[in-house]
Amino acid sequence: MIYFDYTATTRPLPEVVDIYNEVANKYWYNASSMYKVGQIANQLLTQATDTVLRATNSTNKKVVFSSSATEASNIAILGLLDGVDGNGKRVITTKIEHPSVLNCFKELERRGFLVTYLDVDHNGVIDLTEFAKTIDQNTVLVSVMWVNNIIGSIQPIEEVINITKKYPRTRLHVDAVQGFGKIKPSFSFDDVDLLTFSAHKINGLKGVGVLLYNQKLMFTSPLKGSNQQNGLKPGTIDVAAACACAKAMKLASERQNEHYEKVLEINNYFKNKITNISNIIINGARESYSPYIINISIPPHNSETILHALERYDIYIAAGSACNAKSKKPERTVQLITKNDQLALSSLRISFSHETTKNEIDILIEKLQAFTCKTK
Ligand code: PLP
Repeated sequence: MIYFDYTATTRPLPEVVDIYNEVANKYWYNASSMYKVGQIANQLLTQATDTVLRATNSTNKKVVFSSSATEASNIAILGLLDGVDGNGKRVITTKIEHPSVLNCFKELERRGFLVTYLDVDHNGVIDLTEFAKTIDQNTVLVSVMWVNNIIGSIQPIEEVINITKKYPRTRLHVDAVQGFGKIKPSFSFDDVDLLTFSAHKINGLKGVGVLLYNQKLMFTSPLKGSNQQNGLKPGTIDVAAACACAKAMKLASERQNEHYEKVLEINNYFKNKITNISNIIINGARESYSPYIINISIPPHNSETILHALERYDIYIAAGSACNAKSKKPERTVQLITKNDQLALSSLRISFSHETTKNEIDILIEKLQAFTCKTK
């Protein structure tokens, strides 16, 4: 099997699965209970929290373990503005956010907030001048993703922080899912109010994510229940999942540089090989991009045809985002940056990991060539 869909999900590391099994088997007690074994589970939770803070170099944050990054972003965005009258208040995000953020902003729109969806250029990067013109005293929330999950563009978060800082009432949320453990941040997480992470994108387990939020922030949750995790993620906490998530985040942060170098080499190898093939078009992100993700089109073939043809050789790539895998609509982000329906309909997302080999790339390219007409 040759897998090129690491942006959708990654294989859990044995160390992570081992931690999960150990804690789930030995320390399965309720971490909120007052008796001894519950307190031991609670200590493990505290250790997991400390590990997450260290892995993210955070000194001013609190940690919430959620069931996914989707849930973490919902808690961050909808929780922060829970009960706030939207009238006269502005919120800003980008047009290329993951649906877990974008659909929260659609909800805010329904609640009467004035929502601005920032455009991106052909590289998939926002225009800071447009952002600086849009943000104002009435802006209560800005949410900008770090790395885009479709084309791999990296947003200028450092500059977004600097502009947002001029407005003390404005809170900043960053979806760090495709950046953390993969790209070295050019900004400090301490300068962002709320950040979301997902364990299964960094060789952790599915079903667990993290919300990091500034400890000075006071907000409620769209989830109503008891007071676990400060009431932001009520429900009996899965201590084993929290420990496994912390382990995955620790390992990903420790290995980030080494993995980045390997993936960069693989990305360059892939790009060099396809430059000689006519008809393979790279969609966006030629500047400021994550080497983990490359988006291509081979018009006029639609993505699904190619995806299934490759599947016959046990090669797996993605057409559009994982959450959109069943939809046949043109890929939204690719359409936005290319303004070309055909490219968006034939868009393929190829994503790499430190485990990807040049031999795997050679095989992929050989099979892709069946869809290209002639060489340059
Ligand atoms: N944000 C980005 C950028 C993503 O790529 C994804 C998953 O594809 C998510 C959020 C959602 O992550 P999760 O599966 O943990 O909900």
